[in-house]
Amino acid sequence: MKASQLFFPTLREVPREAELISHQLLLRGGFVRSVAAGIYSYLPLGWRVHEKIAQIVREEVNAFGGQEIHMPVLVPKELLDETGRSAVPVLFGLKDRNQREFFLGFTHEEVVTDIVRSTVHSWKQMPLYLYQIQTKERDEPRPRGGLIRGREFTMFDGYSFDYSEEKLDAIYKANYQAYGNVFRRCGLEHLAVEADPGSIGGSENHEFMVLTENGEDTVLRCDSCTYAANAERGEVPETSSVEAIKPEASESISTPGAHTIEEVCAFLHVEAGHLIKSIICTADGKPVVALVRGDRDLNLPKFARVLGAKSVELADVPTVLRVTGAPMGFAGPVGLAEPSPIYADNELKQGGNYIVGANQADAHLGNVTPGHDFQVTTWGDIRTAVAGDKCPRCDEGHLTDARGIEVGHIFKLGTKYSKDMQALYQSETGEKTPILMGCYGLGVSRTLASAVEAHHDESGIMWPITIAPYEVGIVLTNMKDTSIVDAGVQLYQELKAAGVDALLDDRDERTGVKFKDMELIGIPIQVVVGKGLANGEVEVSMRREKGVRTAVATVELVDHIVALVKAEKSRLM
Ligand code: ATP
Ligand code: MG
Repeated sequence: MKASQLFFPTLREVPREAELISHQLLLRGGFVRSVAAGIYSYLPLGWRVHEKIAQIVREEVNAFGGQEIHMPVLVPKELLDETGRSAVPVLFGLKDRNQREFFLGFTHEEVVTDIVRSTVHSWKQMPLYLYQIQTKERDEPRPRGGLIRGREFTMFDGYSFDYSEEKLDAIYKANYQAYGNVFRRCGLEHLAVEADPGSIGGSENHEFMVLTENGEDTVLRCDSCTYAANAERGEVPETSSVEAIKPEASESISTPGAHTIEEVCAFLHVEAGHLIKSIICTADGKPVVALVRGDRDLNLPKFARVLGAKSVELADVPTVLRVTGAPMGFAGPVGLAEPSPIYADNELKQGGNYIVGANQADAHLGNVTPGHDFQVTTWGDIRTAVAGDKCPRCDEGHLTDARGIEVGHIFKLGTKYSKDMQALYQSETGEKTPILMGCYGLGVSRTLASAVEAHHDESGIMWPITIAPYEVGIVLTNMKDTSIVDAGVQLYQELKAAGVDALLDDRDERTGVKFKDMELIGIPIQVVVGKGLANGEVEVSMRREKGVRTAVATVELVDHIVALVKAEKSRLM
């Protein structure tokens, strides 16, 4: 491609609406343009990167038997009614001219299961793995970071159909492996972690995280074994040695105006670990009290699992006032106005003589010990795991934390959807049985943005060569010098003929502008055709090795570049 003909409107200024570096650089480099919050158009450079990532995913998934299909964006409401997902809050809905209701596809389990239930009737037709790479629509409450969290985005979504747990397990593992290959080939340091299944449900699931400082998720890793989990999901093992504490007589403490843990700590000069946080929640509509140590966070998904509840949320203000009989900020487990079940985090079995809210305005209670001053209905692992916790899998390790961006999420669904939708097959023994399913999502647009988060410097993007819009950029330093122009055009044509993805900067711009643009748009290999030509040489440099330039004889350039491209690619194999 010749840059003089390429549509890439670069910007010198950092767009004000963009906080994340990937968002800024993708806008500045002319890769995407914003249409509305969380909605983007891809311009030529952005679409080239998008398609390169999509192609890598296709190759990896086709390798284990995936078959590409394409499902519609419009999904009839009745299909989602079958699984109860027509009530999912992120859905965009609309009606046709006959008032029939549709949703814009946010993921396609129901659509694909509908295809399969009408076509797959025997175990002999499985295993089957169908996938698409398609636009998804979700009315995200907080679209952010440009392509990181859009309201319209592209997802690879794969669906597997099997007749035995072993087959499902095998295809899940193949997909797990394939995703690892995809992210490695895209040049992304990544980690598969145990994760919360969210609204999709199912038995086993893993998230794939690209590790970068700006990641919105926290991942926890054991420093001794292979355990890794999203902090949302991370388990906390019970400590076996329970310190014996002699409970002392509880006492009322005046804490005027101290509502929050921080305020109470500051007022009483104690550490948060001496307090118990009492959180009033509603589980499937009924009030419950959750207790965690003052320096910990309640984890709602884990709490929901301990409760066996469909939905758990923080109680609204009227409920808190009613249950505690006190203003907000003074909830505690002793003397509730409306007695409610008390769920305590396992960690509170240790220690004792804690400070808790007194269920009275401006008062706390000191020396409160669970089991002595109040009864715990159920103990459980309900707090969020943090760095420093013991590993739940091995004896020696402790957890460390890192930031990550979730780029993929895979689930063993089992029969969750096939039961709801009556997707049945005839087994080897002749019984009608629900099909075992798996689903596998990978954010193509989010992966693109994550690659920028992971690979950039102060001058712009540093694309890994496998997903760069062009592999090589040729800068012509003087458009008036015909020898430079002729030599550059010839090298460009030779490179193209050798299968290299080359961009020729033949614009009538200052050389400084051309260099800046090449750096901004992140072309991995740069060839400068300039004065050296008098000695039969051009200069070659790598985007990721700033300032290092090598003189290469023009006659050797094509071989040199072909070898460089190959070497760069093999770093990512
Ligand atoms: P998140 O927790 O980030 O909201 P999710 O768990 O709802 O995502 P899934 O339904 O598991 O997402 O979607 C599969 C993949 O699609 C995600 O791993 C992510 O890479 C991508 N994805 C999901 N939502 C978005 C979005 N709003 N914008 C861009 N990519 C997204
Ligand atoms: Mg997810």
